[in-house]
Amino acid sequence: MAIRPILIIPDARLRAVCDPIVEIDDEIKTLAADMLETMYAAPGIGLAAPQIGVMKRIVVIDVANEGDEPAPHVMINPEITQFGEEIQVTEEGCLSIPELYYEVERPSTVTVKYTNLEGKEITVDADGKLAVCIQHELDHLDGVLYIDYLSRLKRDRVIKKFDKQARLSAR
Ligand code: ZN
Repeated sequence: MAIRPILIIPDARLRAVCDPIVEIDDEIKTLAADMLETMYAAPGIGLAAPQIGVMKRIVVIDVANEGDEPAPHVMINPEITQFGEEIQVTEEGCLSIPELYYEVERPSTVTVKYTNLEGKEITVDADGKLAVCIQHELDHLDGVLYIDYLSRLKRDRVIKKFDKQARLSAR
């Protein structure tokens, strides 16, 4: 296992659409283990493969509270099959947009279908923090970031800040 570097905006890989995983081989198993290790080390509650530059449809999530047993989910080719009608507002952050947090409105429940590491198809009805995290991470697989849901003014401010940092560090 290894901790892999996390990409920060405006890296173009964070805006690309990822490819489905065709076979769950050793490479995918290593990838999943590395993603979990990277997420826990960050620390974060979710990580999508494009955030470490791997353009494949896989995310890892663990929303267990601090002090509780870890509850890792590895979701391969995940798909939300149903969104609930109620909306919840939650403060979100992103490891690829470090140190910022904004409130985002999303459906408060979702049904997600995915394949696990053993190749089994799983369906989960999620609510609360898990529902938010699933939507946030799955968006990453399509190049969508949570700041895309903010007002244009707020989003532009975030994008400008990171564009400037990228320019400074490229010097
Ligand atoms: Zn994120």
